[in-house]
Amino acid sequence: MKRVYLDHNATTPMRPQVRAHFEEALEEANGNPSSVHASGRAARARLDSARERVAAALGVDEDEILFTSGGTESDNLAVLGTLRGAPGAGMVTSAIEHSAVLEAGVAAEREGHPLTRVRVDSQGRVDPEELLAAVRERAPALVSLMAANNEVGSLGPLAELGLGLRALGKLRPVFHTDAVQALGRAPLELRAWGLDLASFSAHKLGGPLGVGVLYKRKGLKLLALQYGGGQELGLRPGTENVAALSAAALAIELAQREHAQHIPRMRALCSSFWEQVQRVLPQAAVNGPDPSAQDRLCNTLNLSLPGIDGRVLVARLDLEGLEVSAGSACASGSLEASHVLLAMGRANEDARAGVRISFGWNSTSEDVHGAVDILRRTFSSSR
Ligand code: PLP
Repeated sequence: MKRVYLDHNATTPMRPQVRAHFEEALEEANGNPSSVHASGRAARARLDSARERVAAALGVDEDEILFTSGGTESDNLAVLGTLRGAPGAGMVTSAIEHSAVLEAGVAAEREGHPLTRVRVDSQGRVDPEELLAAVRERAPALVSLMAANNEVGSLGPLAELGLGLRALGKLRPVFHTDAVQALGRAPLELRAWGLDLASFSAHKLGGPLGVGVLYKRKGLKLLALQYGGGQELGLRPGTENVAALSAAALAIELAQREHAQHIPRMRALCSSFWEQVQRVLPQAAVNGPDPSAQDRLCNTLNLSLPGIDGRVLVARLDLEGLEVSAGSACASGSLEASHVLLAMGRANEDARAGVRISFGWNSTSEDVHGAVDILRRTFSSSR
Protein backbone atom coordinates (compact mmCIF):
# COMPACT_ATOMS: atom_id res chain seq x y z
CA MET A 1 0.00 0.00 0.00
CA LYS A 2 1.42 3.40 -0.98
CA ARG A 3 0.87 5.72 1.95
CA VAL A 4 -0.13 9.34 1.36
CA TYR A 5 1.20 12.00 3.74
CA LEU A 6 -0.91 15.16 3.82
CA ASP A 7 0.01 16.52 7.24
CA HIS A 8 2.64 19.09 6.27
CA ASN A 9 1.38 21.64 8.80
CA ALA A 10 2.37 19.19 11.55
CA THR A 11 5.78 18.72 9.99
CA THR A 12 7.09 18.46 6.44
CA PRO A 13 9.86 16.04 5.41
CA MET A 14 13.36 17.46 5.20
CA ARG A 15 14.21 18.58 1.67
CA PRO A 16 17.01 16.55 0.03
CA GLN A 17 19.30 19.58 -0.43
CA VAL A 18 18.78 20.48 3.22
CA ARG A 19 19.56 16.93 4.36
CA ALA A 20 22.77 16.91 2.29
CA HIS A 21 23.75 20.29 3.75
CA PHE A 22 22.96 19.05 7.28
CA GLU A 23 25.19 15.98 6.84
CA GLU A 24 28.04 18.06 5.47
CA ALA A 25 27.70 20.55 8.33
CA LEU A 26 27.78 17.70 10.86
CA GLU A 27 31.05 16.51 9.33
CA GLU A 28 32.66 19.91 9.17
CA ALA A 29 31.47 21.90 12.17
CA ASN A 30 31.81 19.86 15.33
CA GLY A 31 33.23 22.54 17.58
CA ASN A 32 31.57 24.83 20.07
CA PRO A 33 31.17 28.24 18.42
CA SER A 34 32.28 29.92 21.67
CA SER A 35 35.68 28.13 21.62
CA VAL A 36 38.64 30.13 20.33
CA HIS A 37 40.50 27.22 18.68
CA ALA A 38 40.20 26.22 15.03
CA SER A 39 37.26 23.82 15.55
CA GLY A 40 35.41 26.53 17.47
CA ARG A 41 36.15 29.09 14.78
CA ALA A 42 34.85 26.76 12.06
CA ALA A 43 31.61 26.29 14.00
CA ARG A 44 31.38 30.07 14.58
CA ALA A 45 31.83 30.72 10.86
CA ARG A 46 28.95 28.34 10.05
CA LEU A 47 26.74 29.91 12.69
CA ASP A 48 27.49 33.45 11.48
CA SER A 49 26.78 32.40 7.92
CA ALA A 50 23.47 30.77 8.96
CA ARG A 51 22.41 33.99 10.69
CA GLU A 52 23.40 36.13 7.69
CA ARG A 53 21.49 33.87 5.31
CA VAL A 54 18.32 33.86 7.44
CA ALA A 55 18.48 37.64 7.84
CA ALA A 56 18.91 38.13 4.08
CA ALA A 57 16.03 35.74 3.31
CA LEU A 58 13.75 37.64 5.71
CA GLY A 59 14.94 41.09 4.57
CA VAL A 60 16.29 42.13 8.00
CA ASP A 61 19.69 42.52 9.70
CA GLU A 62 21.82 39.76 11.23
CA ASP A 63 21.63 41.20 14.73
CA GLU A 64 17.82 40.93 14.52
CA ILE A 65 17.87 37.12 14.24
CA LEU A 66 17.80 34.85 17.31
CA PHE A 67 17.97 31.07 17.00
CA THR A 68 15.71 29.00 19.27
CA SER A 69 14.52 25.41 19.57
CA GLY A 70 11.36 25.96 17.50
CA GLY A 71 8.19 27.93 16.98
CA THR A 72 7.01 27.24 20.52
CA GLU A 73 10.09 28.71 22.14
CA SER A 74 10.08 31.71 19.80
CA ASP A 75 6.43 32.42 20.68
CA ASN A 76 7.03 31.96 24.42
CA LEU A 77 10.05 34.26 24.35
CA ALA A 78 8.15 36.91 22.38
CA VAL A 79 5.12 36.86 24.70
CA LEU A 80 6.70 36.37 28.13
CA GLY A 81 9.89 38.26 27.28
CA THR A 82 7.82 41.32 26.36
CA LEU A 83 5.17 41.16 29.09
CA ARG A 84 7.57 40.51 31.97
CA GLY A 85 9.29 43.77 31.08
CA ALA A 86 5.99 45.68 31.35
CA PRO A 87 4.54 45.16 34.85
CA GLY A 88 0.73 45.12 34.91
CA ALA A 89 0.37 45.56 31.13
CA GLY A 90 -1.34 42.90 29.06
CA MET A 91 -1.62 41.28 25.64
CA VAL A 92 -4.28 41.58 22.96
CA THR A 93 -4.40 38.58 20.66
CA SER A 94 -6.91 36.51 18.67
CA ALA A 95 -8.96 33.57 19.93
CA ILE A 96 -7.43 31.22 17.32
CA GLU A 97 -3.72 31.58 18.06
CA HIS A 98 -1.54 28.52 18.48
CA SER A 99 -1.31 27.32 22.07
CA ALA A 100 2.36 28.46 22.13
CA VAL A 101 1.00 32.03 22.17
CA LEU A 102 -2.29 31.50 24.02
CA GLU A 103 -0.84 29.39 26.84
CA ALA A 104 2.07 31.81 27.26
CA GLY A 105 -0.60 34.53 27.51
CA VAL A 106 -2.45 32.52 30.17
CA ALA A 107 0.79 32.05 32.13
CA ALA A 108 1.44 35.81 31.90
CA GLU A 109 -2.12 36.51 33.03
CA ARG A 110 -1.37 34.61 36.25
CA GLU A 111 1.55 37.04 36.70
CA GLY A 112 -0.78 40.03 36.42
CA HIS A 113 -0.81 40.74 32.66
CA PRO A 114 -4.44 40.88 31.41
CA LEU A 115 -5.16 38.71 28.37
CA THR A 116 -7.69 39.81 25.73
CA ARG A 117 -8.68 37.34 23.01
CA VAL A 118 -10.42 39.04 20.11
CA ARG A 119 -13.11 36.96 18.38
CA VAL A 120 -12.97 35.70 14.79
CA ASP A 121 -15.74 35.28 12.19
CA SER A 122 -17.17 31.97 11.00
CA GLN A 123 -14.28 31.58 8.53
CA GLY A 124 -11.56 32.17 11.12
CA ARG A 125 -10.87 35.77 10.10
CA VAL A 126 -10.02 38.58 12.49
CA ASP A 127 -11.43 42.07 11.91
CA PRO A 128 -8.44 44.43 12.22
CA GLU A 129 -10.75 47.25 13.37
CA GLU A 130 -11.96 45.11 16.25
CA LEU A 131 -8.42 44.29 17.21
CA LEU A 132 -7.44 47.96 17.07
CA ALA A 133 -10.48 48.91 19.16
CA ALA A 134 -9.35 46.40 21.82
CA VAL A 135 -5.85 47.90 21.69
CA ARG A 136 -7.20 51.45 22.16
CA GLU A 137 -9.39 50.32 25.05
CA ARG A 138 -6.88 48.09 26.88
CA ALA A 139 -3.56 49.82 26.11
CA PRO A 140 -1.67 46.48 26.10
CA ALA A 141 2.11 46.09 26.07
CA LEU A 142 1.85 43.49 23.29
CA VAL A 143 -0.33 42.64 20.30
CA SER A 144 0.17 39.15 18.89
CA LEU A 145 -1.60 37.99 15.74
CA MET A 146 -0.74 34.89 13.75
CA ALA A 147 0.15 35.37 10.08
CA ALA A 148 -1.61 32.14 9.06
CA ASN A 149 -3.76 29.79 11.09
CA ASN A 150 -2.41 26.24 11.27
CA GLU A 151 -5.82 24.53 11.49
CA VAL A 152 -8.08 26.30 8.99
CA GLY A 153 -5.71 28.40 6.85
CA SER A 154 -7.11 31.88 7.46
CA LEU A 155 -4.57 34.72 7.17
CA GLY A 156 -4.12 37.45 9.79
CA PRO A 157 -4.65 41.07 8.58
CA LEU A 158 -1.10 42.04 9.51
CA ALA A 159 -0.66 44.85 6.98
CA GLU A 160 -3.85 46.64 8.12
CA LEU A 161 -3.07 46.04 11.75
CA GLY A 162 0.48 47.35 11.30
CA LEU A 163 -0.86 50.57 9.77
CA GLY A 164 -3.41 51.04 12.55
CA LEU A 165 -0.81 50.42 15.25
CA ARG A 166 1.60 52.88 13.68
CA ALA A 167 -1.09 55.57 13.95
CA LEU A 168 -1.07 55.13 17.74
CA GLY A 169 2.34 56.82 17.91
CA LYS A 170 3.91 56.61 21.37
CA LEU A 171 1.04 54.42 22.63
CA ARG A 172 1.84 51.74 20.06
CA PRO A 173 2.32 48.32 21.71
CA VAL A 174 4.95 45.78 20.67
CA PHE A 175 3.72 43.92 17.57
CA HIS A 176 4.39 40.16 17.28
CA THR A 177 3.33 37.59 14.71
CA ASP A 178 3.51 33.82 14.81
CA ALA A 179 4.56 33.24 11.19
CA VAL A 180 5.31 29.52 11.63
CA GLN A 181 2.83 28.42 8.93
CA ALA A 182 3.16 31.49 6.73
CA LEU A 183 6.80 31.57 5.66
CA GLY A 184 7.06 30.54 2.00
CA ARG A 185 3.28 29.99 1.84
CA ALA A 186 1.81 33.48 2.22
CA PRO A 187 2.95 37.11 1.88
CA LEU A 188 5.07 38.32 4.78
CA GLU A 189 6.71 41.77 5.10
CA LEU A 190 8.41 42.17 8.45
CA ARG A 191 9.61 45.75 7.94
CA ALA A 192 6.77 47.16 5.81
CA TRP A 193 4.14 45.87 8.23
CA GLY A 194 5.98 47.32 11.24
CA LEU A 195 6.55 44.03 13.03
CA ASP A 196 8.76 44.03 16.13
CA LEU A 197 8.84 40.27 16.65
CA ALA A 198 8.11 37.25 14.43
CA SER A 199 8.34 33.51 15.13
CA PHE A 200 9.40 30.81 12.65
CA SER A 201 10.00 27.07 12.74
CA ALA A 202 12.33 25.21 10.36
CA HIS A 203 10.52 21.87 10.34
CA LYS A 204 7.45 23.41 8.69
CA LEU A 205 9.53 24.31 5.63
CA GLY A 206 11.66 21.26 4.91
CA GLY A 207 14.29 22.00 7.57
CA PRO A 208 15.23 19.96 10.66
CA LEU A 209 13.00 19.52 13.69
CA GLY A 210 13.86 21.47 16.82
CA VAL A 211 15.09 24.69 15.21
CA GLY A 212 13.29 28.01 15.40
CA VAL A 213 13.96 31.63 14.66
CA LEU A 214 12.78 34.75 16.44
CA TYR A 215 13.07 38.02 14.55
CA LYS A 216 13.54 40.83 17.07
CA ARG A 217 13.64 44.37 15.78
CA LYS A 218 16.87 46.16 16.65
CA GLY A 219 16.56 48.12 19.86
CA LEU A 220 13.49 46.26 21.13
CA LYS A 221 13.87 45.23 24.79
CA LEU A 222 13.07 41.63 25.69
CA LEU A 223 13.65 39.76 28.96
CA ALA A 224 15.39 36.37 28.78
CA LEU A 225 13.48 33.29 29.95
CA GLN A 226 16.67 31.22 30.33
CA TYR A 227 19.97 32.01 31.99
CA GLY A 228 23.47 30.84 31.16
CA GLY A 229 26.18 31.96 28.72
CA GLY A 230 25.68 35.03 26.59
CA GLN A 231 24.63 33.28 23.36
CA GLU A 232 21.94 34.79 21.13
CA LEU A 233 22.31 38.30 22.58
CA GLY A 234 21.98 36.75 26.04
CA LEU A 235 18.32 36.04 25.29
CA ARG A 236 18.67 32.37 24.47
CA PRO A 237 21.77 31.02 26.16
CA GLY A 238 23.08 27.51 25.50
CA THR A 239 25.54 25.96 23.06
CA GLU A 240 24.15 26.30 19.57
CA ASN A 241 23.09 23.31 17.44
CA VAL A 242 25.31 24.52 14.61
CA ALA A 243 24.69 21.88 11.92
CA ALA A 244 20.91 22.00 12.39
CA LEU A 245 20.91 25.81 12.35
CA SER A 246 22.94 25.82 9.15
CA ALA A 247 20.48 23.38 7.54
CA ALA A 248 17.54 25.45 8.80
CA ALA A 249 19.02 28.54 7.17
CA LEU A 250 19.09 26.73 3.83
CA ALA A 251 15.47 25.60 4.26
CA ILE A 252 14.41 29.19 4.96
CA GLU A 253 16.38 30.50 1.97
CA LEU A 254 14.78 27.89 -0.31
CA ALA A 255 11.28 28.62 1.01
CA GLN A 256 11.68 32.33 0.37
CA ARG A 257 13.35 31.90 -3.02
CA GLU A 258 10.72 29.46 -4.29
CA HIS A 259 7.51 30.82 -2.81
CA ALA A 260 6.39 32.38 -6.12
CA GLN A 261 6.26 28.87 -7.66
CA HIS A 262 5.33 27.00 -4.49
CA ILE A 263 2.19 28.99 -3.64
CA PRO A 264 0.33 28.46 -6.97
CA ARG A 265 1.36 24.79 -6.98
CA MET A 266 -0.05 24.25 -3.48
CA ARG A 267 -3.18 26.20 -4.41
CA ALA A 268 -3.73 23.99 -7.45
CA LEU A 269 -3.35 20.78 -5.39
CA CYS A 270 -5.74 22.09 -2.74
CA SER A 271 -8.37 23.16 -5.31
CA SER A 272 -8.14 19.90 -7.20
CA PHE A 273 -8.49 17.96 -3.92
CA TRP A 274 -11.56 19.97 -2.90
CA GLU A 275 -13.20 19.61 -6.35
CA GLN A 276 -12.74 15.85 -6.25
CA VAL A 277 -13.97 15.57 -2.65
CA GLN A 278 -17.13 17.51 -3.52
CA ARG A 279 -17.82 15.08 -6.36
CA VAL A 280 -17.50 11.91 -4.27
CA LEU A 281 -18.59 13.25 -0.85
CA PRO A 282 -21.04 16.13 -1.46
CA GLN A 283 -21.87 16.20 2.25
CA ALA A 284 -18.31 17.40 3.10
CA ALA A 285 -18.07 20.96 4.43
CA VAL A 286 -15.08 23.29 4.65
CA ASN A 287 -14.12 24.90 7.94
CA GLY A 288 -12.32 28.14 7.19
CA PRO A 289 -12.09 30.50 4.22
CA ASP A 290 -13.56 29.37 0.91
CA PRO A 291 -11.06 27.09 -0.89
CA SER A 292 -11.22 29.33 -3.99
CA ALA A 293 -10.33 32.49 -2.03
CA GLN A 294 -6.90 33.96 -2.78
CA ASP A 295 -6.40 35.42 0.70
CA ARG A 296 -6.01 32.09 2.46
CA LEU A 297 -3.14 29.75 3.21
CA CYS A 298 -2.39 27.93 -0.05
CA ASN A 299 -1.80 24.43 1.34
CA THR A 300 -4.40 23.91 4.10
CA LEU A 301 -7.97 22.61 4.03
CA ASN A 302 -10.06 21.73 7.07
CA LEU A 303 -13.05 19.49 6.35
CA SER A 304 -15.95 18.08 8.35
CA LEU A 305 -17.89 15.02 7.33
CA PRO A 306 -21.23 14.84 9.10
CA GLY A 307 -21.65 12.22 11.79
CA ILE A 308 -17.97 11.29 12.22
CA ASP A 309 -15.69 12.51 14.97
CA GLY A 310 -12.51 13.93 13.38
CA ARG A 311 -10.25 11.82 15.58
CA VAL A 312 -12.05 8.59 14.68
CA LEU A 313 -11.86 9.47 11.00
CA VAL A 314 -8.14 10.28 11.25
CA ALA A 315 -7.46 6.89 12.88
CA ARG A 316 -9.44 5.06 10.17
CA LEU A 317 -7.74 7.00 7.38
CA ASP A 318 -4.38 6.12 8.90
CA LEU A 319 -5.28 2.41 8.75
CA GLU A 320 -6.09 2.88 5.06
CA GLY A 321 -2.81 4.70 4.39
CA LEU A 322 -3.73 8.41 4.51
CA GLU A 323 -1.97 10.55 7.10
CA VAL A 324 -3.81 13.75 8.07
CA SER A 325 -4.69 15.23 11.42
CA ALA A 326 -7.63 16.30 13.52
CA GLY A 327 -7.07 19.92 14.49
CA SER A 328 -3.49 20.85 15.28
CA ALA A 329 -0.92 18.12 15.86
CA CYS A 330 -0.09 19.48 19.29
CA ALA A 331 -3.72 19.08 20.34
CA SER A 332 -4.20 15.61 18.90
CA GLY A 333 -4.40 12.98 21.57
CA SER A 334 -6.40 15.32 23.77
CA LEU A 335 -10.16 14.82 23.74
CA GLU A 336 -11.02 18.49 23.59
CA ALA A 337 -12.74 20.04 20.60
CA SER A 338 -10.58 22.40 18.52
CA HIS A 339 -10.44 25.86 20.16
CA VAL A 340 -10.15 27.31 16.65
CA LEU A 341 -13.39 25.75 15.38
CA LEU A 342 -15.16 26.65 18.64
CA ALA A 343 -14.01 30.27 18.25
CA MET A 344 -15.41 30.21 14.70
CA GLY A 345 -18.81 29.48 16.22
CA ARG A 346 -19.02 25.73 15.56
CA ALA A 347 -21.03 23.66 18.02
CA ASN A 348 -18.99 21.34 20.23
CA GLU A 349 -19.82 18.27 18.12
CA ASP A 350 -18.94 20.05 14.86
CA ALA A 351 -15.73 21.35 16.38
CA ARG A 352 -14.72 17.73 16.99
CA ALA A 353 -15.44 16.76 13.39
CA GLY A 354 -12.70 18.81 11.71
CA VAL A 355 -9.99 16.99 9.75
CA ARG A 356 -7.00 18.99 8.50
CA ILE A 357 -5.41 18.20 5.16
CA SER A 358 -2.17 20.07 4.46
CA PHE A 359 0.02 19.82 1.35
CA GLY A 360 3.77 20.35 1.13
CA TRP A 361 6.81 20.57 -1.15
CA ASN A 362 6.75 16.88 -2.15
CA SER A 363 2.95 16.53 -2.59
CA THR A 364 1.79 15.46 -6.06
CA SER A 365 -1.47 15.13 -7.99
CA GLU A 366 -1.20 11.35 -7.43
CA ASP A 367 -1.37 12.11 -3.71
CA VAL A 368 -4.55 14.09 -4.35
CA HIS A 369 -6.20 11.18 -6.23
CA GLY A 370 -4.99 8.64 -3.65
CA ALA A 371 -6.23 10.75 -0.74
CA VAL A 372 -9.67 11.32 -2.27
CA ASP A 373 -10.02 7.62 -2.98
CA ILE A 374 -9.06 6.64 0.58
CA LEU A 375 -11.38 9.31 2.01
CA ARG A 376 -14.31 8.07 -0.09
CA ARG A 377 -13.75 4.40 0.80
CA THR A 378 -13.19 5.10 4.50
CA PHE A 379 -16.22 7.34 4.81
CA SER A 380 -18.50 4.86 2.99
CA SER A 381 -17.40 1.96 5.19
CA SER A 382 -17.85 4.08 8.34
CA ARG A 383 -21.54 4.67 7.68
N1 PLP B 1 2.83 28.15 15.86
C1 PLP B 1 2.09 27.55 14.90
C2 PLP B 1 1.12 28.36 14.11
C3 PLP B 1 2.24 26.19 14.64
O1 PLP B 1 1.51 25.61 13.69
C4 PLP B 1 3.18 25.45 15.41
C5 PLP B 1 3.32 24.00 15.22
O2 PLP B 1 2.42 23.33 14.77
C6 PLP B 1 3.93 26.13 16.38
C7 PLP B 1 3.72 27.48 16.59
C8 PLP B 1 4.96 25.42 17.21
O3 PLP B 1 6.13 25.20 16.44
P1 PLP B 1 7.19 24.10 16.87
O4 PLP B 1 6.62 22.78 16.51
O5 PLP B 1 8.42 24.41 16.05
O6 PLP B 1 7.45 24.27 18.31
